[in-house]
Amino acid sequence: MNNEHQVNNQLWETLERLAEGAEDKANEAFRKVERIAERNQWKVIEAFKRHQVSDYHFAGSTGYGYNDRGREVLDLVYADVFGAEAALVRPHFASGTHTISCALFGVLRPGDELLYVTGKPYDTLHKVIGKLGDGMGSLQDWGVKYSEVALLPEGGLDWDRIEGAINESTKVIGVQRSRGYDWRASFTVSEIADIVKRVKSIKADVIVFVDNCYGEFTELIEPTQVGVDLMAGSLIKNPGGGIAETGGYIAGTHVAVEAASYRLTAPGIGGEVGAMLGTTRSIYQGLFLAPHLVSQAVKGSILAAALFEELGFETKPKWQETRTDLIQAVRFGQADHLIAFVQGIQQAAAVDAHVVPEPWDMPGYENAVIMAAGTFIQGGSLELSADAPIREPYIAYMQGGLTYAHAKYGVLTALKRLVESGLIVIKPYTT
Ligand SMILES: *Cc1c(COP(=O)(O)O)cnc(C)c1O
Repeated sequence: MNNEHQVNNQLWETLERLAEGAEDKANEAFRKVERIAERNQWKVIEAFKRHQVSDYHFAGSTGYGYNDRGREVLDLVYADVFGAEAALVRPHFASGTHTISCALFGVLRPGDELLYVTGKPYDTLHKVIGKLGDGMGSLQDWGVKYSEVALLPEGGLDWDRIEGAINESTKVIGVQRSRGYDWRASFTVSEIADIVKRVKSIKADVIVFVDNCYGEFTELIEPTQVGVDLMAGSLIKNPGGGIAETGGYIAGTHVAVEAASYRLTAPGIGGEVGAMLGTTRSIYQGLFLAPHLVSQAVKGSILAAALFEELGFETKPKWQETRTDLIQAVRFGQADHLIAFVQGIQQAAAVDAHVVPEPWDMPGYENAVIMAAGTFIQGGSLELSADAPIREPYIAYMQGGLTYAHAKYGVLTALKRLVESGLIVIKPYTT
């Protein structure tokens, strides 16, 4: 073998042995992930079959896109897979943030309140929520009220404060399933089911909204199968299966999804127009592939957790913990370790491996951020990628991997970089 990674044969072999040890340990956890993938694969195929997905559905449309049967059936298939009354799946959603924004603007009116019960939402949503008078037409600028209840120090929901916060103008309860880029737990679908039950027992007509980004297909069921009214996610994350080129989805009740559709296009028009151009087949095929690809990424995360834990780093979630999203956090404690890790992930990419990421001041972020994103789809994060703000305690968030072998290669390449930079020491493996 004369691969680049073989330059230092003995080190690579040592790392491979370490990984094999971690794999042996995680064997049971891997099998659980594979079982979930099988069930979800069958669930997706059965939805395709029920709706008689056919070659002609992939044709796409131009202009207004009236009567695009492929688009209509795509919505039905998504709704079916997610156990929702309706869905809106479109390449016209420019990002996850845009999708979530349409969902929230669809159902909230001036005077209504949005209450996030899982603490501060994902960074890019802060501007969507905005402030009264920000002049951007954010939710609060339009007169929608906003409040949030922080998570308890141990990561759970603060029910005392949530109960106190729900009031007569509370219209939407916001829940973020994934940890995002916070050192906290993610919320499983069963925990989300409890949230639904509890908030609806306090106020029966609230709309429970779930930001489902990174969560799809990591469990057997989705939030809309446990009473969530509205949920949204990105097609360049889990449900796009690595091949949907752009887009987002919204799923939920007929009423809520229709309201969101009027935000995406125009009131009265909704989901009835919108040319799919050439995107339809890749969105269908991406959904078909998603359960398997999500399992590959999750197994990669488990491996990373098992390995880095073995080397003495704190991880979240731990390798044996139940997973409900793709994200694996590793706490490095030192900036140079974190940077070497992220650079190593980039070095392992099939695309742009020659680029060395450096921390930079990204607009909208308080600290410099370093990102590894050698991806086929720009910013696609079902693909192996890593992000980290350069601040204490120096946590790297990694996710994705279209194949387990790539995720493993990424983790080992990152480790190799840490060892070669003299940042960590590993006992050499000898035969
Ligand atoms: C990615 C993500 C978003 C926003 O999606 P973008 O495509 O980055 O705009 C929102 N919430 C969560 C939890 C996410 O992971």
